[in-house]
Amino acid sequence: MASTPELQHTVGKTASLSGTSLHTGEKVTLKLHPAPVDHGIKFRRKDLQDEPTIDAKIENLKMVERATTIGEGSIRVHTVEHVLAALWAMGVDNAVVEMDANEPPIGDGSAQAYVDLVRKAGVTAQEEPRKFFHVRETMHVESKTGALLVLLPEDRFRISCTQAGPNNRFAQFLSVEVTPALFEREIAPARTFVFYEDVKPLMDKNLIKGGSLENAIVVRGEAVLSKEPLRFSDEFVRHKILDIIGDLALVGRRIRGHVVAVKPGHATNAQLARSITREQTRRSAVAAPRTIPSGDGGLDTDQVMQILPHRFPFLMVDRILSFETETKCIGVKTVTINEPFFQGHFPGHPVMPGVMQVEAMAQVASILLFKLAKTTSRIGYFMSADEVKFRKPVLPGDTIFIHAELTKSRGERLAKAKCHCVVNDAIVSEAELMFTFLDK
Ligand SMILES: [Zn+2]
Repeated sequence: MASTPELQHTVGKTASLSGTSLHTGEKVTLKLHPAPVDHGIKFRRKDLQDEPTIDAKIENLKMVERATTIGEGSIRVHTVEHVLAALWAMGVDNAVVEMDANEPPIGDGSAQAYVDLVRKAGVTAQEEPRKFFHVRETMHVESKTGALLVLLPEDRFRISCTQAGPNNRFAQFLSVEVTPALFEREIAPARTFVFYEDVKPLMDKNLIKGGSLENAIVVRGEAVLSKEPLRFSDEFVRHKILDIIGDLALVGRRIRGHVVAVKPGHATNAQLARSITREQTRRSAVAAPRTIPSGDGGLDTDQVMQILPHRFPFLMVDRILSFETETKCIGVKTVTINEPFFQGHFPGHPVMPGVMQVEAMAQVASILLFKLAKTTSRIGYFMSADEVKFRKPVLPGDTIFIHAELTKSRGERLAKAKCHCVVNDAIVSEAELMFTFLDK
């Protein structure tokens, strides 16, 4: 439906739907309204005074037991995942979901009714570009109950899911690229299912008052109990994919990546949404501007260049911020898109090479060595690097704080340094370096 996938979309006009909510069994009317660019999806509680709205954002997640609940202050909206999945997968980025209850109508337990609603309202392109989250490195979350979600780099949005019930009953697998057409045809009609073992405790907890064979499939042993026969032989895994799409919509950005899920649930879906949001925050954060001391505490660029023989494009330290002791200091390197290595590492996907970070650590450690030796007539050769770890990618615009500490100097000839690089308060790389000295 969204014909220009690079632009944000909203619904063409207001459309409404009535039904019963699952957990409370109340009658509810849901209205879908258009919203401006960068608005995102917001739920509005029409039944409450001042009609408060709740942002469909992971920050507002309140509960993940059986269904996904979001809230702000004391206001809650339950079971948002199916309506979110339909909006998001059908290409709607901005909309107000207005309801006169605390939960959308459950319909038949699938997202079919919401897809029909989106179709009724229409989807229209807006002026602003969409916001994406491009997966750059593998991420994963897992739970003690055996749920596992892995997110891999991929330039489309794909989900590969394995679902299995108690004792691996009804084990199913499906891999899809999530597009509006695919979602509408293959995913949206898949209904909620419960295993009989799980239903009794839910009833005891008062969690499924509106629940019946009308809006969920019940599996008892090998038997499938439902009002109409299965819509797909692998309907359960399809519904799991539906839930993943709905829960990950809470990220508020279009994911470009491949989700590989094993026995996923709302809790792990939400955990992954949280990790993605954290990673996005880290990427957009810029180190707070700070006054960089020079003179007493540190070394300015000129002083660094008096000590180090390295020059463009190989000088990897802009300044030394401070010397904590004679054997410990912090250097700084501002990484810009103009760094020569970004031309080839990689075109369209700039990431600072890890070896350049090791080089930066070696240069900061060398400064310590030269200061300690009180001479630059000898030259330190980099002999080995141990325990090298690259933890996070360093990107254009990042400021690297390079920490170096001399841990050992054996005689006059050998020295060892423990180093790490920090960007936005997170360690991005670390290494233990060994040097030897030779007269120039
Ligand atoms: Zn669901």
